[in-house]
Amino acid sequence: MRFYVHPLFILTALVAVFFAATGFFVSLIIAVILHEVAHIVMAKFLGVTISQLALTPFGGTVNLQTKILSSYHKCLIYLAGPLASLLLSMLFGVIVWLLPTIFAYLEYLVVANFLVGVINLLPIYPLDGGKVLSLYLSTKFVLIASNSFFSIILILNVIWFNWWWIFFAVVMLIQINWEFKQNTFYDKFSYAGRTKVGEFKQCAVLSSMSLWAVYRMIDKKRPTKFVVTDQQNIEFFESNLEQWLLKYKTNTELVRCLK
Ligand SMILES: [Zn+2]
Repeated sequence: MRFYVHPLFILTALVAVFFAATGFFVSLIIAVILHEVAHIVMAKFLGVTISQLALTPFGGTVNLQTKILSSYHKCLIYLAGPLASLLLSMLFGVIVWLLPTIFAYLEYLVVANFLVGVINLLPIYPLDGGKVLSLYLSTKFVLIASNSFFSIILILNVIWFNWWWIFFAVVMLIQINWEFKQNTFYDKFSYAGRTKVGEFKQCAVLSSMSLWAVYRMIDKKRPTKFVVTDQQNIEFFESNLEQWLLKYKTNTELVRCLK
């Protein structure tokens, strides 16, 4: 499993320090990590390998390695995180209630876990609730709904101005439009295959994808096979990708899939 810290997470950390909200931000990191652990535990319980875990400002994102997983099992993995966050918030709440002076930052943990739980349940991509929704509805619909939701939050700030809401909406809009296509594509088409020699990972890629996005799909432990599934700029993409892969000496193979 690859661990990846999203640039927006670092940006949020800087904003938190700037607004002198470091204590709360540390609690938020703890809450996000606990939330991710819940996803991982559920995935392991269902026998699923997680290919990538990314730490983002409002909860991490989990990429599942197998395509054969049923929507119901994916749903369980996505929901395990928010559920754990809400239970932890309640647990910390009870501790604060019983022993109010035990640890000064415990109240932050109550709020942080609650926020991570509730925010991630929103039916908006790339949050867990949105991922559950995109299992059952068309991705295009989820994309439009998510963009509309955060645009409305931005517009509402004209009336009720609040820096945190603006920041939250902008971060989410970037995440939706920057990563939505690549991640859903990755979730849907990347799967592990088996050859006579051994296991390999196969990923479908578009020639419009950034080389960095493709590079992130490479599995360091086994050969990775890329299937280019469109024909836009294919020559340019192929030659650049080959150079890139050669530079990093990765065990990969590039296959053209001409439909
Ligand atoms: Zn989550």
